[in-house]
Amino acid sequence: MSKPFVLTVIGTRPEAIKMLPVVRALRAAGVPLRLVATGQHRELLGQAFAAFDEQPDRDLGLMTEGQTPTDVATRAMPAIAGLIEAERPALMLVHGDTTTAMAAALAAFHAGVLIGHVEAGLRSHDLARPFPEEFNRVAIDTVASLLLAPTAGAAANLRRESPRDRTIVVTGNTGIDALLHVAGRLDGGELARAGLAPDPAKRLILVTGHRRESFGPGFERICAALARLAARGDVEILYPVHLNPNVREPVAARLGGHPNIRLVPPVGYVEMVALMQAAAVVLTDSGGVQEEAPAIGKPVLVMREVTERPEAVALGAARLVGTDPDVIVREVAALLDDAAEYAARSKPVFPYGDGRAAPRIAAAVVEFLAGRGDTPVDFWQIGAGGRSQ
Ligand code: UDP
Repeated sequence: MSKPFVLTVIGTRPEAIKMLPVVRALRAAGVPLRLVATGQHRELLGQAFAAFDEQPDRDLGLMTEGQTPTDVATRAMPAIAGLIEAERPALMLVHGDTTTAMAAALAAFHAGVLIGHVEAGLRSHDLARPFPEEFNRVAIDTVASLLLAPTAGAAANLRRESPRDRTIVVTGNTGIDALLHVAGRLDGGELARAGLAPDPAKRLILVTGHRRESFGPGFERICAALARLAARGDVEILYPVHLNPNVREPVAARLGGHPNIRLVPPVGYVEMVALMQAAAVVLTDSGGVQEEAPAIGKPVLVMREVTERPEAVALGAARLVGTDPDVIVREVAALLDDAAEYAARSKPVFPYGDGRAAPRIAAAVVEFLAGRGDTPVDFWQIGAGGRSQ
């Protein structure tokens, strides 16, 4: 039998961005680790790994064209179950709310392997939004024993839901670790080199949108809003369009060739951080971008009806605008046409983390595994940090 180790399974771009700081911190803490990619988002995952100069130890290559969440789950579960059976990890560490993470947690649960959940406790309290992510995160938290909550609010959600004996640690969100890591290394030439330099005479509106619950009518409304915003002569809209055909096709059909709107393929994470810095306003339905933009001091308008990330909304840095074109256009104008309003909502705020989440998570993992008694103690010794509650 091999030494006890942590198995980490990731499938998508945000998981790579938010788990690679954890992978590095675990390695720095001397924790043996295996990083497996399912390839739920094959191209996007590759871009995210490139930003951190990392590679998965193994890529299961499970992505199929036009896959549904059921396709992802039913292909990932047996593959991950086989890995668990062959390698018997001490801990399965998953991130967030993707179908890959849910399938990996469930496979570990069935095999009697302990589960740690990074970004535990986020709740919109609406199973339809975000779909299917709200179910995935509830399911993972139900079977996890080590719950690494990014905020006090997320930890409170977990405590409210279950009196079960489990370890809950507030760590901050590792997305902020990733953001600060990349932002600190920018040289200012990234956008020009990638052919993404914005028009200096215009104000940049950076858009991302890909949520499953917006497929169909939601995207029609989002496109209508962007077309109306583009009619303002003083803005340039840049939209890195997700590769999912349910997003790419309607967006290309409605907005392709539109003056003032640049549709580009998904950009690497380094370029994404540079674009957020260059933007005047960020318009998104993404979870991660809702966390990142406030830390860069960019007002973010969230094209959703509910969010599991209420902290930035409470601080005024983020606002929920849904997908109604009238509301989106009005809220963008409220920022762009009112300097005092813009100034008040564009101060950098850090409700999601201080950039030190990953070492806290590594320390929590070490302590958790040492506490199991079946793990050699000196194996887990680290110098970094302590338990943060
Ligand atoms: N992102 C990126 N390139 C893009 C769009 C987004 O690197 O073209 C990054 C973004 O900065 C954030 C993450 O991808 O860190 C968010 O991923 P996504 O919106 O796919 O998922 P979510 O956060 O909603 O789960």
